Amino acid sequence: MLEVKNLNVSYGRIQVIKDFTFSVGNEAVGFFGPNGAGKTTLINSIIGLVRPTSGEINFEGQSLLDRETYQIVRMGISVVPQDGELFPIMTVIENLRIGSSYIKEAREKTSERLEFVFKIFPILKERAFQLAGTMSGGQQRMLAVGRALMAMPRLLILDEPSVGLQPSLVTELFEKLAVIKTEGVSILLSEQNVKQGLKVIDRGYVVENGTVVIESTADDLKNNEHVKRSYLGL
Ligand code: ATP
Repeated sequence: MLEVKNLNVSYGRIQVIKDFTFSVGNEAVGFFGPNGAGKTTLINSIIGLVRPTSGEINFEGQSLLDRETYQIVRMGISVVPQDGELFPIMTVIENLRIGSSYIKEAREKTSERLEFVFKIFPILKERAFQLAGTMSGGQQRMLAVGRALMAMPRLLILDEPSVGLQPSLVTELFEKLAVIKTEGVSILLSEQNVKQGLKVIDRGYVVENGTVVIESTADDLKNNEHVKRSYLGL
């Protein structure tokens, strides 16, 4: 589905992504690594916010290079950014409607999509007319995911969705990601919370200094000495 080959990205003279190759199929894939490893830069490259210096990014056989972000979203990729980027003085349902408003096919199916999102996140239906900014951190994170789903993505990308959430909410959110996967949406999850992330993903990449240091299945990552020592505190 998503194929990235030999990607290089620089900010000015500083190269932050080095010869990075990865793929996402009909599965959940993780990017794990410390702050500044380059995870956000990778995501921004996929959705056209950062232009790589070289390499290939293909989605369902079509190159994403030289495409604008709105075109990439239309092709079936939605991102939940690190800070959620909700509209705090708009209601929950208004925020959700914005998620489908830019894409004709999704806009025509807004009611259907709302039902889909409400089925996964019943709390958003209960709070439909509450202002987004007055919801708890966990509920806002759910809303950010719900809004991304309104665009009918086939690939959902999440940039560190666990940041700032208490552990029980992280568990709840990640359980929802598992449900979303069973609904046929592929997932690319960038996380520093490797312990929780490993529960959701099928395969993962450990990213350090802009390059892949380990690529493996979730089970193998759990047992990998470097992962255990550096990310699981074992
Ligand atoms: P974080 O968890 O902090 O978002 P990350 O793994 O997502 O970390 P990036 O945000 O992609 O990492 O950053 C990779 C490197 O690029 C870091 O050294 C960062 O300081 C640098 N960097 C990020 N954005 C820019 C920019 N716009 N200009 C210059 N350097 C940048």
